[in-house]
Amino acid sequence: MALGRATSGRRAVSLEEGAVPGGARCPACEAPLFVWVETDGWGMREDQVIDRCENCGLAVPRDAVPSAEQAAAALLRETNGSATVGFRTPNAASVQAWFGAENWAAFRPGESELLPSPRAAELLLGKRGLRVTAIRHLAAPGMASMWQTLLNLLTFHRNFAPEALAGRLRPSGGKGRAAYAIDVIVTVLAAIPTAMLAVLIEGGAVLAKRGGVIEVSAEREPADPAI
Ligand SMILES: [Zn+2]
Repeated sequence: MALGRATSGRRAVSLEEGAVPGGARCPACEAPLFVWVETDGWGMREDQVIDRCENCGLAVPRDAVPSAEQAAAALLRETNGSATVGFRTPNAASVQAWFGAENWAAFRPGESELLPSPRAAELLLGKRGLRVTAIRHLAAPGMASMWQTLLNLLTFHRNFAPEALAGRLRPSGGKGRAAYAIDVIVTVLAAIPTAMLAVLIEGGAVLAKRGGVIEVSAEREPADPAI
């Protein structure tokens, strides 16, 4: 429902006007965060609210919004502080994040909480004196993540196959046992059709620079070598 003057041809309510007073701000661009998805019933991420920045596309759990410094450190955790850095991360501004929403495979227990967009990564690295030199949309990892996202739309358990194979998910009694058995059957039957679909959809997403997994390359600004 639109709010504000019906005669206005522009957005009726600005992000600031729509924000909760005192609510969390985006660590990358400082715009207010809004709820994106609510997850429930899947292990460690049960009943979690994920917020998203409508300005730069960054996504982060509501109960774990980091500071800008912490967010940049999270992105750079596997780099060694050299003059050039490169890392791989899920892309919150991707086709698979958009239609997967709470079923997006990047919402994996134990994985990074912060889900940046290319724009958010650029802003956060800029705060650390790093200039993004390239963002590559990776086809193979993106297709794997798209495949899992598609399977998540069909199964009761999220990330069923990898969790079951890793031994973190076991059949429980009653309804849980039935759901587990159905997920085994659905995963086997749907594996090949969903893999083909994943290649097609993610192939298009990569071409449109909306891939689900990106590789960010950056280098230190020469004017600020002390950072
Ligand atoms: Zn933002």
